[in-house]
Amino acid sequence: MSNAFVAPHFQSHENARDWLESLRWPNGPICSHCGTINHAYKTKKPGWYRCAEKECRKDFTVTTGTVMERSHIQLHKWLMAFYLLNASKKGMSAHQLHRALNLDYKSAWFMCHRIREAMRSGGLGPLGGEGQIVEADETYYGKEDHPRGPSPHRKGRPYTKGGRSGPSGKRAVVTLVERGGRVRSFHPAIADGPSVNAIVRENIARESRLHTDESRLYIGVGKEFATHETVTHSHGEYVRDDVHTNTVEGYFSIFKRGMRGVYQHCKEKHLHRYLAEFDHRYNYRIALGYGDIDRTLVAIRGVAGKRLLYRQPD
Ligand SMILES: [Zn+2]
Repeated sequence: MSNAFVAPHFQSHENARDWLESLRWPNGPICSHCGTINHAYKTKKPGWYRCAEKECRKDFTVTTGTVMERSHIQLHKWLMAFYLLNASKKGMSAHQLHRALNLDYKSAWFMCHRIREAMRSGGLGPLGGEGQIVEADETYYGKEDHPRGPSPHRKGRPYTKGGRSGPSGKRAVVTLVERGGRVRSFHPAIADGPSVNAIVRENIARESRLHTDESRLYIGVGKEFATHETVTHSHGEYVRDDVHTNTVEGYFSIFKRGMRGVYQHCKEKHLHRYLAEFDHRYNYRIALGYGDIDRTLVAIRGVAGKRLLYRQPD
């Protein structure tokens, strides 16, 4: 890992800015306000451009409209932080980053969350597809910051995990994994029928084969897929032919080990960002052909507000 840091864009703010410009703007500067490509001129202030579109004329830099906007941290430290969070298997705590990059702790903490935000893969298409298997399962991690009473949907029934009564007061995580492919994780307020059904319905292609355990959470929504096959964990059944949930269970164990080892304290309101980080590393893992640098580049390309529409100059 240490060898990677001889790259010029890790040496100075200016080098990092040049590098980021060529990564984000391969066809010339893109105005972050109106989206016009290559119709801007450099101002006297280093790194600042002014849009030449008549109705825009606004100033911008390569970080305007990104998670790095208005940060006082030098850009080469940002790039190093991106690399460190992407290249370490279980992530890196703000404490480690604050020591490694010689930043104050608050800045390091702030960076970590911004980088997780960049790792979030919003709006990508559904998982699975014809002939593909998607495993779905739920787990619980850490205590809720504000434990709530039983769900109104529960109507006195026990929680559904194998008929055992539920892990009340713990934070629910629902994860969907394509066999041999991508993952997507969620933190619903409570993992009950309506919330789990919505997650499954909105994120898995109908043509997929759905694999789950015997949990009742998936019975109704399962009918909407090509097939819904289950293994009955409570009867000691974990694999039947190619039916199992070992992939998603494996993902949960990576997540929990990482969270316990690196991020001991995680406020509930940030849990979705940690999930985004672990999802990102899993989605761009070595087995799918991504090295540390590829994985880092995907995250850096995700820095911009996802709603911005690019257009060519008139
Ligand atoms: Zn513009």
